[in-house]
Amino acid sequence: MNLDNETLEILKRAAATWKSGFDSLPEVEDSSNHKNLDPILQRVAIKLHNNYPYQHPMYLGQMMKPPHPIAHLAYTLAMSTNPNNHALDGGRASSEMEKDAVQQIAEMIGWKNGLGHLCGGGTVANLEALWVSRELTENRLIAVSDQAHYTHSRCASLLGMDCRIIESDTHGRMRTAALQEVLDKNSVGTVVVTLGTTGLGAVDPLEEILALQEQYQFRIHIDSAYGGYFKLAENLSEYATRQYELMNRADSIVIDPHKHGLQPYGCGCVLFKDPAVARVYKHDSPYTYFTSDQLHLGEISLECSRAGASAVALWATLQRFPLEPHGEFSTGLESARSAAIQLYEWLNQSEFYTPVVTPDLDIVVWSVRTESASESSGKAREIFEAAAEANLHFALVTLPRKLVEENSDIQNWDQSELTCLRACVMKPEHQGWMPRILELFSHISRTTLG
Ligand SMILES: *Cc1c(COP(=O)(O)O)cnc(C)c1O
Repeated sequence: MNLDNETLEILKRAAATWKSGFDSLPEVEDSSNHKNLDPILQRVAIKLHNNYPYQHPMYLGQMMKPPHPIAHLAYTLAMSTNPNNHALDGGRASSEMEKDAVQQIAEMIGWKNGLGHLCGGGTVANLEALWVSRELTENRLIAVSDQAHYTHSRCASLLGMDCRIIESDTHGRMRTAALQEVLDKNSVGTVVVTLGTTGLGAVDPLEEILALQEQYQFRIHIDSAYGGYFKLAENLSEYATRQYELMNRADSIVIDPHKHGLQPYGCGCVLFKDPAVARVYKHDSPYTYFTSDQLHLGEISLECSRAGASAVALWATLQRFPLEPHGEFSTGLESARSAAIQLYEWLNQSEFYTPVVTPDLDIVVWSVRTESASESSGKAREIFEAAAEANLHFALVTLPRKLVEENSDIQNWDQSELTCLRACVMKPEHQGWMPRILELFSHISRTTLG
């Protein structure tokens, strides 16, 4: 966020209102509070130059989207008390806001009575969902695609569960035929369906997996840490739209407000369709929960202390951007997706590149057109560096031959993997910026590859 005067004025006014609520307390004097802050913060500002410019539309590398100023402001204001959403004793107001914000996310999915809470991020959220699955499925197998986030096999190992990796197709989506083979031979308790893979932004075929569920009976966990909010977008392909429509049929869902939801890091969300899973969390800590019979979020959460400020920031953001179709937030997602399609179409026409897949969401991945896989990978790295020199930031991703082969011009597979370029076109401003980005990228490509 640009910490400009207008924003700081808004914060000052809110801070004064906040403070007035505690006027009855005696003043605490601490004259040393400001000592050295100025020079230290100057050093911090300079140290922070050693980052890619994540906040700028010319940064399209990793999955980074700047928090909205309202999230920044609300978070900062909440830090005045630094509430802890573990128990109502530590964060009464912020726990209320968390329940309300989580309810709004659940309603976006179509769940009226779901159970859920915020957590540190997608990793903990997925761990929690898989742990609940383990408790409810007597430790039966987990199946995930080879394009799923690596956190799943790691969580499975942490939980002492067996995890089967299911091959994906040339779109980067789970192959249901391969899943069925595993279901035929094993007792699978949970299938992880990714709606928006981290590498390619691919949407797994939930509809087909639901059909298999009728025959084989397993829990469905949707990992949409990155892609969940695309439920609201109206410019996805017919295929992707259909999978999102069926999202409410899952047993558990992960969505990260800190990915596409305009939040600072430290904000993931896990949701369960059946509120009765609360029994899995049962514990009787002697330390907490004295003040009321109401639900303390710590009673349904694996983590204990959690930043109440995260909930305050998310709640405030949802006041500004309600999760409704055609709203400003949905339009922002749609424009990111349109910008991704512009980039994809440009690559499709390009003499230098081949897109790896047609994007399901707003991530675009492409390879450099050459004879051999090693040469193409080397040139991808050169382009990555030349673009960064010109302040245009992409990422690199290494993909297995079987995923890329069909859609690439590589004749000589002298190595089994291909390094490709990847762009996360996640910011609403990317649509307006795309012509300029493409002009620059076109120039960089001609000078490096031409
Ligand atoms: C980012 C991501 C994760 C991990 O979430 P963190 O918030 O980084 O812990 C898991 N799954 C998917 C699909 C992701 O994109």
